[in-house]
Amino acid sequence: MSEIAFIGLGSNLGEREKNLSSALTLLAETSEIELVSTSSFYETTPIQDNPDGSVANQPDFLNAVCQVNTELPVQFLLARLLKIEKKGGRERKHRQHGPRTLDLDLLIYGETMCKTAVLTVPHPRLHNRAFVLYPLMEIAPDLVVPGKGPVKNLLAAVAEQNIRRITGINFSIKTG
Ligand code: AMP
Repeated sequence: MSEIAFIGLGSNLGEREKNLSSALTLLAETSEIELVSTSSFYETTPIQDNPDGSVANQPDFLNAVCQVNTELPVQFLLARLLKIEKKGGRERKHRQHGPRTLDLDLLIYGETMCKTAVLTVPHPRLHNRAFVLYPLMEIAPDLVVPGKGPVKNLLAAVAEQNIRRITGINFSIKTG
């Protein structure tokens, strides 16, 4: 049975646009994954990550989200995302929100709500991140986040966050 899922992508090291595009290509090339739609790319200011609450000194992120149809069970989809992250050259550092070449998050997997040691779906921070909610609103304006409600109702809470839609950059799904 195929399931609709939403994936969040982010990069703030190296060639950010290329990093996101390569990850989308790898997703589209996975036989059990059909890439349905991709948002514009958005530039966002990193969220604070220092223990003292000071603003992190790191480059801005390029973010996007995509919708997929997949035959993969949820844990296999996550494993696939982690593999693509690895290919994207992500260096895992100690800081949770530190700079990264490529970060992939499984945002939503159908109606599934689960919390295990390795996987929480919907993504636990989805509802308070503008860089997830604005692109989701672009590609799925009627989406309802399981356990949280309609995406359009979640936007007010992130209205203060700095996010710019980058026009002229986006990924087109190649066919044939
Ligand atoms: P981070 O490096 O902060 O993005 O965290 C990555 C780790 O979070 C992975 O090793 C996953 O096992 C775990 N994780 C739990 N839930 C999710 C999710 N919904 N999407 C991506 N990673 C997740």
